[in-house]
Amino acid sequence: MTDFIPFNKPYKAGREFEYISEAINRGHLSGDGYFTRKCQSWFEQTYKFNKTLLTTSCTDALEMCALLTNTNPGDEIIAPSYTFVSTVNAFVLRGAKIIFADSSPLHPNIDETQIEKLITPKTKAIVVVHYAGVACNMNPILDLARKYNLYVIEDAAQAIDSFYYDKPLGGIGDMAAFSFHETKNIICGEGGMIVINNKQFEKRAEIIREKGTNRSSFFRGEVDKYGWVDVGSSFLPSELLAAYLYAQIEAITDIQKKRMHIWKKYFDGLASLVQSEKIKFPFMPTYATNNAHMFYIECRNLDERTALVKYLKSQNILAVFHYLSLHKSPYYASQYNGDDLPNADRFTDCILRLPLYYELTDSQLEYIIHHIHVFFNDN
Ligand SMILES: *Cc1c(COP(=O)(O)O)cnc(C)c1O
Repeated sequence: MTDFIPFNKPYKAGREFEYISEAINRGHLSGDGYFTRKCQSWFEQTYKFNKTLLTTSCTDALEMCALLTNTNPGDEIIAPSYTFVSTVNAFVLRGAKIIFADSSPLHPNIDETQIEKLITPKTKAIVVVHYAGVACNMNPILDLARKYNLYVIEDAAQAIDSFYYDKPLGGIGDMAAFSFHETKNIICGEGGMIVINNKQFEKRAEIIREKGTNRSSFFRGEVDKYGWVDVGSSFLPSELLAAYLYAQIEAITDIQKKRMHIWKKYFDGLASLVQSEKIKFPFMPTYATNNAHMFYIECRNLDERTALVKYLKSQNILAVFHYLSLHKSPYYASQYNGDDLPNADRFTDCILRLPLYYELTDSQLEYIIHHIHVFFNDN
């Protein structure tokens, strides 16, 4: 049997230590130094983002979005049920009620045709999640936002270097949040970024990120003292993390190429199981690109998925399921009084994610693909 194949391995680009040493030698270890600026300029230039700020996590970037939109008790936020906790917890912390929407029947992203019926006079924002780095159908969502005067926030945690038509994900809503957690395509351990597309939020974003002070303006020489001007928190990552991230950014083309290679190997290697209707592949809408953040299959039911996980584990392969519908979560179920969300529940039961990381070799991939075939031919 092969050595254990984990689900994820954090990628090392090679120059991380060098840049971390450089950050140490520069004598500036707190946030907003040389490497933070280098990372932010790279994102702004590469994806034409209006303004970016590195944060300590995507969760924190989402909490900044909740503060920036002045989300308060009495407000309602529309978001998919099939997502990570942080997408909505950020708004729950501000006292908002979450109005959960179902996934599309075809893919886990929010079903844009089911949003309008959830809008009420209390709705403040629509939070979309580009699951697996595959774009939500943003144009109809932006139309709804204009019609009802709502903010659109993109949880782009998984969506680096991916596009909706020719627009980079994260550059479409009023604001967006990215993650550089070690499970994402480019990483720094724990880290994130807020993208401010709507210029009305630019100034206040800097203040909220700097503990409610106008310290950033002070360092630019725009004010002669800095002080407490608003609410805020400590959302700046250390330069050590930005240095690590910069090494990853420099390797992004190579990382994306390798991840795409792995993704296509799974796609080709498992195609016959899709033809025989034993599994389904991720659905790729024509408006979306694939950033190879994730390769998942959809099993026919929960029992089959559980059996497959168990079988793969017996072969030293770790494949993992994903989200549990948040409207049924222990924390939110008692507060939820909306409709059933059958697609979110189906993805809860049926999605299985396969190992996908830079160091995964072709022979390991063939081994995984082989054992998925063995499982289904025996079932
Ligand atoms: C990873 C992830 C997050 C959280 O990111 P952190 O940087 O760990 O806070 C939020 N939303 C989605 C969709 C994610 O995949």
